[in-house]
Amino acid sequence: MKSLDVVLESRLESIRQDGLWREMRPVESAQEAHLRGAGVEVVNFSSNDYLGLAAHAALKEAAGRAVARFGGGSGASRLISGSLPPHRELEDALARFKGSESALVFSSGYAAAVGAIPALMGPEDVIILDRLAHACLIDAARMSRARLRVFRHNDLDQLRGMMEWARNTVAEESRGEGNILLVTESVFSMDGDTAPLAEMVALKEELGAWMLVDEAHATGLFGEHRRGRLEAEGIAGGVEIQMGTLGKALGSAGGFLCGSRNLRQFLIHRARSFIFSTAPVPAASAAATAAVELVQSEEGRARCALLWDRIGQAREGLAALGIPLPVSPAPIIPIPIGEEGRAVEIGKRLFEAGFWVPAVRYPTVGRGLARLRLSLSAGHTAGDIDYLLAALRGLSLGR
Ligand SMILES: *Cc1c(COP(=O)(O)O)cnc(C)c1O
Repeated sequence: MKSLDVVLESRLESIRQDGLWREMRPVESAQEAHLRGAGVEVVNFSSNDYLGLAAHAALKEAAGRAVARFGGGSGASRLISGSLPPHRELEDALARFKGSESALVFSSGYAAAVGAIPALMGPEDVIILDRLAHACLIDAARMSRARLRVFRHNDLDQLRGMMEWARNTVAEESRGEGNILLVTESVFSMDGDTAPLAEMVALKEELGAWMLVDEAHATGLFGEHRRGRLEAEGIAGGVEIQMGTLGKALGSAGGFLCGSRNLRQFLIHRARSFIFSTAPVPAASAAATAAVELVQSEEGRARCALLWDRIGQAREGLAALGIPLPVSPAPIIPIPIGEEGRAVEIGKRLFEAGFWVPAVRYPTVGRGLARLRLSLSAGHTAGDIDYLLAALRGLSLGR
């Protein structure tokens, strides 16, 4: 047997040769629209902090108060060492915000997915998943050992066929004991496009299935109260499980699931990532509660409106450069490149010009589908967008 290091050396070499080498760029300042990295100031188009809340005074103060009162850590799982006020307050705030009966908080969105889906689904069941769903949803579906069917991205015809198949399968093979769970994202994390949620809800009502919608990139940004796309489409009541993260527009860290009281109770008993993992740090939960309140305030409304202005400005400018855009607007805008090495090279040139636009490559997206992933924030100025567009024009990326 070869030594571990020898095996890893050769695996790393092949990653390098495929143009897939990754490095974490050091950053010296808070996650804001402008930051210091590698000794230079850059405009940050890499962060999911869409409303510019991560370094907001209200979140810092809430986190600071929680540290002063409850310290750095939460001690153990909440089932072991108790549920602290920041956890309880956050769950109350999330349930009120999303208009659901209850909420349960996890240490990350990833943990929420891999806790909930395997708790709810098993070998008797069928999970139906969009092909571009986030890795945590795919991993969760695999961990559940349910039969898994993956439909082409947003393809409602194929989805209908799979749901009909699933209905027959659970009726026959599981003698009516199996259940069906339809899983999608509301805004896709690497493509910036949106799922046809209203049609999917209609389909699952017609054919009989439960539904989980991951609103990681929509919470705080869509709908009159900024709850997400389920609110914007008026269909939140038709979805059993609403998932989200506290780490993106909510500027903190953690994940959550909203749904019925029974859902929460059951997950407390069965979601392994909840039971066997230390509760979120009090500071993160307190900051998230402040963010949930802020999003619902007049300031939250104004920040969201500002973000949508920037999205409109960027889309207009990119369209003028001949860059194809997702049909419906969202704060994530991919700029398709294709070849991995070329995406990295362009990303590097933009960084040198003062813009951090990450090159996204396999395994985050498919091979040969590398892209620059632009994420916009309410913290960007109109000038930031204009300068970026000018830099992109210089690179002649359009058709
Ligand atoms: C980021 C993300 C998650 C994971 O959330 P974390 O809190 O970062 O673990 C889940 N789903 C989607 C769609 C995401 O983009």
